[in-house]
Amino acid sequence: MVVTQYIFLVLYSNKKREEQAQLLEWLNDAIQYKQMTIYYQKQWAKHNETGEIYTMGAEALIRWIDPIHGYIAPDKFIPLAEESGCIIPLGKWILEETFKQLKIWEKDPRKCHWQLSVNISIKQFEKDDFITIVQNLVNKTCCNPRKIRFELTESLLIKDLKNSLRKIHALTKLGISLSIDDFGTGYSSLAYLKRLPIHELKIDKTFIRDITTDQADVVLVKTMLSIGKYFGLDVVAEGVETKEQYEMLHNMGCCYFQGYFFSKPSEEALL
Ligand code: C2E
Ligand code: MG
Ligand code: MG
Ligand code: MG
Repeated sequence: MVVTQYIFLVLYSNKKREEQAQLLEWLNDAIQYKQMTIYYQKQWAKHNETGEIYTMGAEALIRWIDPIHGYIAPDKFIPLAEESGCIIPLGKWILEETFKQLKIWEKDPRKCHWQLSVNISIKQFEKDDFITIVQNLVNKTCCNPRKIRFELTESLLIKDLKNSLRKIHALTKLGISLSIDDFGTGYSSLAYLKRLPIHELKIDKTFIRDITTDQADVVLVKTMLSIGKYFGLDVVAEGVETKEQYEMLHNMGCCYFQGYFFSKPSEEALL
């Protein structure tokens, strides 16, 4: 490597490290002073007989709008929160808020059938007290655990399959169901589908994006739908942005949808 390139890399990595340290400082403040909010994005289902599309529930998505620095995307701060460990208090707060929200939905005639999906970080899931925390929150909020679905990513779940299995069984016993988020993007073997008692696959939006023009995506999505059907799992298509994408998925036999074509994530009050 030439010297100038080396100097650039050192400076770049120092700058990057400084930025991360700065972001972490803001993040800790935001968690401590509860500056984050939760948005919800509706999930849609197709009625078996009438073919009508209706809201089946919503996914909770964390939002951080810093008063000084503006909107900071979850893809930017969640990995940092995981690395630094502050995902533990943050994840607990998200569970508290969303379970309380579910309890409120249960009393609303328009929303009482809604299911709640919550993204769970593997760092949170791995902790010894995760199940106890969830159980205590269900007891405290008195929400119906059968309406709760946890979204986890596959690669991390199978890293310690034995431990994951034990935890998933404990959650299933509580009534909570499991979804594999970003399905198809990990490097894991599909063999885990035989072993893990999961309930849903979410086809990653990267497969949906070009589905109307890319034959390879059509084949992959059809395959994922077949896998879901074979294993008796709900399959949700994520990131549906256009009518054409929706119609194509619908014709392929997909019954569950999420994406900007239907609705964007929003404050709960606007749902
Ligand atoms: P994810 O769980 O796969 O969430 C789907 C992402 O796609 C969300 O981005 C959502 O806003 C976005 N999205 C929804 N519909 C469309 C669409 O039609 N087109 C496009 N292009 N995007 C769409 P968001 O909210 O920025 O979240 C990104 C990721 O951050 C999430 O991916 C999830 O992995 C993580 N995340 C978000 N909220 C939480 C949380 O509360 N806890 C944890 N642990 N992770 C979270
Ligand atoms: Mg998700
Ligand atoms: Mg996803
Ligand atoms: Mg994701």
